[in-house]
Amino acid sequence: MTERIVVGAALYDEGRLLAARRSAPPELAGRWELPGGKVEPGERPDEALVRELREELGVEAEPIARVPGQWPLKPGYVLWVWTAKLRSGAPEPLEDHDELRWLSPDEVWSVEWLDADVPAVAAAMECR
Ligand code: C5P
Repeated sequence: MTERIVVGAALYDEGRLLAARRSAPPELAGRWELPGGKVEPGERPDEALVRELREELGVEAEPIARVPGQWPLKPGYVLWVWTAKLRSGAPEPLEDHDELRWLSPDEVWSVEWLDADVPAVAAAMECR
């Protein structure tokens, strides 16, 4: 069985990293993640990232580089992360999230990240 890829964005702006607080499902609500979501069949992962950021945050973003590594999610799903930067718009929690926060380097560990995102955020911090 091939694993389904979930893409996440380490979206940086002026040295700060965007974190998004999930509003659903109940078992994940209140925890923070790198915004993103599932790659659709036939879609390139970097295209999925751009689409998800448009849908979830209402912004146009540009993937910069894949963060080396992949992180297991629920069975059958794996997380890939890109660094990305904003092209236009100001992120708003339009879908799946109820709060956004721009974290300076010393604030990155001040939010309760989803378990899978902890090593992904640590790796992304090496790529800023
Ligand atoms: O956002 P979406 O529901 O499409 O994400 C699919 C799954 O990937 C979710 O169940 C969530 O647990 C997980 N995920 C994650 N970290 C992210 C993005 C998604 O653990 N940054």
